[in-house]
Amino acid sequence: MLHPKKERTLLILKPDAVKRGLAGEIVSRIESRGLKIIALRMFWANKDQIDRHYPQDEKWIKRLGEKTLKNYAEYNFDAKKELGSDDSLVVGGMVRSWLIDYLTSGPMVKMVIEGIHAINMVRKIAGPTMPAEADMGTIRGDFSVDDATAANRDKRSIRNLVHASETHEEAEHEISFWFAPEEIFEYKRAEDDVM
Ligand code: ADP
Repeated sequence: MLHPKKERTLLILKPDAVKRGLAGEIVSRIESRGLKIIALRMFWANKDQIDRHYPQDEKWIKRLGEKTLKNYAEYNFDAKKELGSDDSLVVGGMVRSWLIDYLTSGPMVKMVIEGIHAINMVRKIAGPTMPAEADMGTIRGDFSVDDATAANRDKRSIRNLVHASETHEEAEHEISFWFAPEEIFEYKRAEDDVM
């Protein structure tokens, strides 16, 4: 079993984070938590890359739809009226295609982050998917306010600044998808002697 300090995750600063000049602030939050950035690069993705970055299976698309429908229910929004369907697979498919448009609309910054429980830790620093539900102190809570009911009315993806791998499987797939092994660096940070 890998040493817990060696857990790795992928973080992407989405086009809204780059365009709003929040890259430095976000990187700083990761670094000051004691997590180590071991790869970092600016890039502009194409549609095919984003399509392959996110899972393509029905289960994932349904989950995306369910999350959206839950948000609609919370705010008493009628999904059928707003989106023309309340089927989680259909809604998930729509959201996935808006997501591809969003993530190809400008340059992004990708990085690999290493540290204790890096996957959960970075998700926690990012905050939940819907910025309107994110706590203050999280990246999404401090710098954005979007949610599904607003985004979907305008037929666009939620602008929530960052993407962070959710599971070990996702992290493994996403790191090897976006980085070649020689672009990832092993080095010692000052805190390595302390914690
Ligand atoms: P997360 O990025 O928090 O892991 P998901 O994997 O559920 O969230 O969704 C992927 C991305 O799709 C989100 O970060 C967000 O940008 C977008 N998204 C999710 N649900 C919706 C929705 N209902 N409407 C528009 N965009 C959405």
